[in-house]
Amino acid sequence: MTLGQRVLFGSGRAAAYLAAEVRRVGAGRVMVVASNGELAGRVCRDVAVVHRFGDVAQHVPVETARAARAAAAEHGADLLVSVGGGSATGLAKAVALTTGIPVVAVPTTYAGSEATNVWGLTEGRTKTTGVDDRVLPVSVIYDAALTTSLPVGLSVASGLNALAHCVDSLWAPRADPINLAMALEGARALALALPGVVRDPKDLKAREQVLYGCYLAAVAFASAGSGLHHKICHVLGGTFGLPHAETHAVVLPHVLALNAPAVPAKAARLAAALAGGSDDAVTALGRLYETLGAPRTLDLAEADVPEAVAGILRAVPAGNPVPVTEEAVTALLSRARAGSAWR
Ligand code: NAD
Repeated sequence: MTLGQRVLFGSGRAAAYLAAEVRRVGAGRVMVVASNGELAGRVCRDVAVVHRFGDVAQHVPVETARAARAAAAEHGADLLVSVGGGSATGLAKAVALTTGIPVVAVPTTYAGSEATNVWGLTEGRTKTTGVDDRVLPVSVIYDAALTTSLPVGLSVASGLNALAHCVDSLWAPRADPINLAMALEGARALALALPGVVRDPKDLKAREQVLYGCYLAAVAFASAGSGLHHKICHVLGGTFGLPHAETHAVVLPHVLALNAPAVPAKAARLAAALAGGSDDAVTALGRLYETLGAPRTLDLAEADVPEAVAGILRAVPAGNPVPVTEEAVTALLSRARAGSAWR
């Protein structure tokens, strides 16, 4: 399954592309969703904006969604433009969900929400997600020049969040050969380009390749659905407020170590895509983590482990390649908390 949206790539082109998209959809009242006024100003340079909503928070608290919907109504918005990471995109999606106002997404991280029809809202300690085509951005504008200010640590974590979309697509509920092809090409691009971003965060060519990989990763994820990795991170982020990208980065190798032995042919293709000089996917991923100085420890309190395990066991997707037991999840979280070996 691939979703219908316009996708534009061009470094330094965001303002021109956005102006063209606004004309194309015939919008006259643009509301921007962005916490970063400077980035929003650059992107909206050639567009009349009726309002900028800047109160963006991770996992879209329902109170924030209500405030953004009220602002859209008050200003008569007929187009939402999100400029920022998955949190800005997610808030624009929350407005689109109840109003039907179309979204143009201008992502500045590698979270990938712009290419999915998945929305998320958090009430208290409970995060709810759903699928609705109204939240799929009509257009996505990828401009690598907007990402050079993303700090190296966050670039690495967010890039590994994108890689997690690829890896989870190997065994997610709707995994198929088409999304596998996109996932493997996405993994190849990410593994090749992320070290370049670490060496030089201003390297535009490396940043472009990471955006390319992140887009393919998100398309694969939207098609294949959430596998075990995403279900684990969903519980950790939604219930315990752990930071999205870093949590994905830390958890990913542990889930790969758990599942890879049960899908040897796909794992071998992933190892080849990662080009880590090993035909073992976990070893290849480990080498990439070393090169990137990737985060390894999960900031989950020991006292929260039982609640996390219970939440994860309730969410385990059908068809995971290995049975997921209480013992296995407890061991996985313990290793992730300690930053110890993945297997
Ligand atoms: P984020 O959007 O919260 O951004 C992280 C931080 O980076 C923020 O402080 C932000 O201001 C800053 N930032 C963003 N771009 C920057 C730039 N270019 N320069 C400097 N700073 C910049 O985090 P995220 O990891 O991008 O997104 C996480 C959220 O997205 C979570 O709520 C997650 O659930 C959601 N998400 C949803 C989907 C989906 O399909 N619905 C997919 C992926 C992520």
